[in-house]
Amino acid sequence: MAREFQLYIVPTPIGNLKDITLRAIEVLKSVDIIACEDTRTTQKLLNHYEITTKCYSYHKYNEKERVKFFKNLILAGKKIALVSDAGTPLICDPGAILIEELIKDGVSVTSLPGACAVTTFISQVPRVSEEFNFIGFIPRSGEQIKKIISDNIDKNLIFYEAPERILNTLKIIKSVRGDVKIALGRELSKLFEEINIDTVSNVLNRYNGEIKGEIVCLIYPSDNIDDDVIVDKIIKLKSKGYKPKDCAVILSSLYDYSKNKIYNLALSLE
Ligand code: SAM
Repeated sequence: MAREFQLYIVPTPIGNLKDITLRAIEVLKSVDIIACEDTRTTQKLLNHYEITTKCYSYHKYNEKERVKFFKNLILAGKKIALVSDAGTPLICDPGAILIEELIKDGVSVTSLPGACAVTTFISQVPRVSEEFNFIGFIPRSGEQIKKIISDNIDKNLIFYEAPERILNTLKIIKSVRGDVKIALGRELSKLFEEINIDTVSNVLNRYNGEIKGEIVCLIYPSDNIDDDVIVDKIIKLKSKGYKPKDCAVILSSLYDYSKNKIYNLALSLE
């Protein structure tokens, strides 16, 4: 028999209604209430699986107030399942405040494995290294986008982005990283699912000014420029009186090379 918990974090499909586990359905049926973002969205899923458990909304604007309500229900012996509109709660979705508060009160919590856009994407996109940096939604401001992209030159950088902003974001990526290789996942698990792995220019051309649907994107690390080349440049800059920090700023803007790495190289040459 499976161990029982007071709060279950339950992933729901990210597009294809069938992407829900048998255990998730069982838990959603057996708990006393379901805490969800938008009751209408979750109700469609519940209807599909003939789940009659009552839903209560919580979202990023009322999460704090709702904590007390859910806490009291648990103290009264009720079991709760937490879901979001789609995918895994807490992955760019609310739930963190609620869980933090309930854990403080000794409530037993577990999460079920299940659908999530970033893992669905990353498990079908080939990478040289296992390591990746998932930052959730990429910031909106151009300056912040540039900073994040520059800081992650040597990493597989993965982010969520809205369809109305992605083409502009790709243009910013191109301005900072040149014609770097990217992977773009669109409408995963849905009818028009596609993955494009190509240079940023080719992806921009392909969508020709318009892209629809839900998107997750990976920027591949740039091919490594030889350390010796950078060391040589640092030595020249230092001979002119530039500090490690200046070397990092100047060279990272000229070469596809991590600012931190240049800074550390410059320090090691002090
Ligand atoms: N909790 C969700 C998860 O587990 O992935 C993420 C929720 S976040 C509010 C929504 C964003 O996730 C979308 O804007 C999109 O970037 C990404 N996303 C969700 N479903 C997707 C799908 N089917 N295909 C591609 N990206 C998706």
